[in-house]
Amino acid sequence: MTPPLIVAIDGPSGAGKSTAARALAARLGVPYIDTGAMYRAVGLAARERGLRLPISDPEPAADVAQSVTVELIATSGGDRVLLDGRDVTELIREPEISLYASAVSAIPAVRRRLVSEQQRLGRARGGVLEGRDIGTRVFPETPHKFFLTAPPEVRASRRASELALRGTPQPYPEVLAEMEKRDSDDSSREDSPLTLDGRYVVIDTQALTPQGVVAEMERRVLRPGG
Ligand code: C5P
Repeated sequence: MTPPLIVAIDGPSGAGKSTAARALAARLGVPYIDTGAMYRAVGLAARERGLRLPISDPEPAADVAQSVTVELIATSGGDRVLLDGRDVTELIREPEISLYASAVSAIPAVRRRLVSEQQRLGRARGGVLEGRDIGTRVFPETPHKFFLTAPPEVRASRRASELALRGTPQPYPEVLAEMEKRDSDDSSREDSPLTLDGRYVVIDTQALTPQGVVAEMERRVLRPGG
């Protein structure tokens, strides 16, 4: 039996991973798995249970991660994220929740819980998984690894436009500062930092259209022997 197709897409925030991963998954006919949404849902649950930033004691956050259910659902109206059955798709995109997501994601017990769930999902039906540690930790054996990146100013201005479109505008300098903090925390944490090995294909998305990024990844995934 051929193993399910797994594509890993890692990189810092605002690099264009979500758009590209979703479109690539549709083209390849496998599920799109947004692992950041899972950390965001746990971050939201932590905030709702009264945890405050910075998180100094990992235990309560680990308990939150153990006790909640997070589901990623593909519907005809788009992908939805459920936290204990409640639709939190919009709530988890708030800037404050980005910071909670980053904080809980540095806790090893939280990562263990979500990584095993991500592996279960990927093994069941394959997938294009988007995150920070997919090719290094979640599915290190996949031959299809992409690292999407772009200069911080470009990524921050994309994120600022996204927030404005969503009706939750935030000034560009704040977006840039928060993004740089999150990138630095994600890259410097001890457990599964954002990093890459020599088997990644690095794509700078600055000068490419979203369609161009997807076409490049699809070509590499489908090439004979690839
Ligand atoms: O990708 P997104 O910005 O939604 O991710 C939110 C946060 O979740 C990231 O800043 C990172 O701290 C964490 N994350 C992670 N590992 C992943 C995906 C996301 O640590 N695989």
